Amino acid sequence: MEQTLRGIGVSPGIAIGPAFLFDARRVEVPKYAIEDAAAELIRVDRAIEATRADLTRLHSQTAAQLGKAHADIFNAHIMLLDDVAIREELTARITAEALNAEHILHELAQRYARVLGEAEDPRFRERTADLLDVTGHVLHHLLEAKRPNLRDLAEASIVVAHDLSPSDAASMNTEKTLGLATEVGSATSHTAILARALEIPAVVGLKLPAAAIASGATLVVDGSEGQVILNPSPETIQRYRAARDTLERRRRALQRFVTAGPARTLDGIEIPLLSNIELPIEIQHSVKSGVQGIGLYRTEYLFLNRDTLPSEEEQYEAYAAVAQALHPLPVTLRTIDIGGDKFVSHLQISKEENPQLGWRAVRFCLQSPEIFKTQLRAMLRASVHGNVQIMFPMISGLEELRQVKAVLWEVRDELRRQRIPVSRDLKVGSMIEVPSAVTLTDLLAKECDFFSIGTNDLIQYSLAVDRVNEKIAHLYEPAHPAVMRMIRWTANAARTENIPCSLCGEMAGDPLFTEALIGLGVTELSMSPIALPLVRAEIAHTNMLEAEALAKRVLRLSTAVEVRALLRERYERKGAMEAYLAQYSDESREERG
Ligand code: PEP
Ligand code: MG
Repeated sequence: MEQTLRGIGVSPGIAIGPAFLFDARRVEVPKYAIEDAAAELIRVDRAIEATRADLTRLHSQTAAQLGKAHADIFNAHIMLLDDVAIREELTARITAEALNAEHILHELAQRYARVLGEAEDPRFRERTADLLDVTGHVLHHLLEAKRPNLRDLAEASIVVAHDLSPSDAASMNTEKTLGLATEVGSATSHTAILARALEIPAVVGLKLPAAAIASGATLVVDGSEGQVILNPSPETIQRYRAARDTLERRRRALQRFVTAGPARTLDGIEIPLLSNIELPIEIQHSVKSGVQGIGLYRTEYLFLNRDTLPSEEEQYEAYAAVAQALHPLPVTLRTIDIGGDKFVSHLQISKEENPQLGWRAVRFCLQSPEIFKTQLRAMLRASVHGNVQIMFPMISGLEELRQVKAVLWEVRDELRRQRIPVSRDLKVGSMIEVPSAVTLTDLLAKECDFFSIGTNDLIQYSLAVDRVNEKIAHLYEPAHPAVMRMIRWTANAARTENIPCSLCGEMAGDPLFTEALIGLGVTELSMSPIALPLVRAEIAHTNMLEAEALAKRVLRLSTAVEVRALLRERYERKGAMEAYLAQYSDESREERG
């Protein structure tokens, strides 16, 4: 019977196919007596070396795919492999108990995992998965069993798992993995980031245990809506197939339509379209999409899914690479926005009652001057390689802006004293994503070179709706009149001081809002590269005077329902997307020959 399972959509798109139930750790471990302990220990050594070779390969593969920061997890795994305590206990017990290595290693791993899992310190608890991942590798080599591997998918499938470890995710066969569905995970987990970067539809946080889904059962993964449909009826399959085919046709048509250069309204006003990036591989995507720059580089992703802080050098290389690749277009490096929903275990940010209102972004940075200054040094050093702008997240008022800028100038002066070059015309801006900042935009604009409205947070804080709590997700409403007014307020303040006002929340990539946003006075839009063509089509069908009139009408409305209805009616009437699809579709190309 058809069943709809809810989760968190972390990578958009639709996948339909058979489930492949993946459980890397499920192994039958035999127990038997041995006679030759020395021979058993040689077997252990070989299995460890074979695992080291696997992990080293995964490290290079991940470094090439996602960058060095994401590959570091495998260095940590290699260190675990060399853990002296486990190794000594394993050796001693094999010799003393005269039992096979698999059995003893399995027991040891389970015991260590239990102890780690119960630890107070979250950093230890997080090591449990790493320990089981590494010992699972060794166990498979000892058993000479092939570790279940996502590279070996026999047919195109939807991978269903309790969780995917970084090594599972890294060895995924991207041709045959149609979609991903896991019980564990968040939007910032390794799996989610990889799925988005590879454009594989994915849903995490499924309520049903993965084991309840039979391998081979038909699934639909709807990564946009965050749902998985188990045993869909023929009608449901047909509906989703049609939706998937439309998406695919659109994707192809849109790729043809992408041209370099700024998007322009019907009356010739340029609206720079920029992209939001999290990973180095997204640079190429952005460049190909003809963006006018990077409007938001979420640098905290360099800090996630790893055990150590990225060094100044590593950060410098990452920022310089983006600056160089985009030169002379602007690259907006946002200082780390850690805390909130992006939890970094090795930074000892303990779990908070209200993480979204807690030790986050610049609040964390101002109290962690070493980390903050290292990042600013790396950014300033990278600034000579291109057109770099520095942006601060979660600024709530003037004191905070002045404090972070004071640290920035202190670091710049230090670099100058050391005769390390720094760009002369570095632009410094603030995200506007806290309601108090909106009310102070007239003052903030005097001390900033640009604004970027972070609607993802602005909506959560102004409507008091936690952006990662699915129970209240229906209350999270970009079309809320309060949000519209705050955007207007911010854009007006920017215009008065003659500074650009970008918008880089998810709203920027939703074509429903494009006309209203530019009418409200937003001068640039920054979004994930996948959304660029949609918004570009919308702008090309927009007249600035009409957009301003639309914004005025929107501001007179009292409810989100009214705002949405007006925007939808407008959007459908313009039919920008349809016009472009007709022009660039497979069919029209065939007709034109
Ligand atoms: C935002 O808050 O709108 C934003 C773009 O930043 P992030 O999603 O990284 O918080
Ligand atoms: Mg934000």
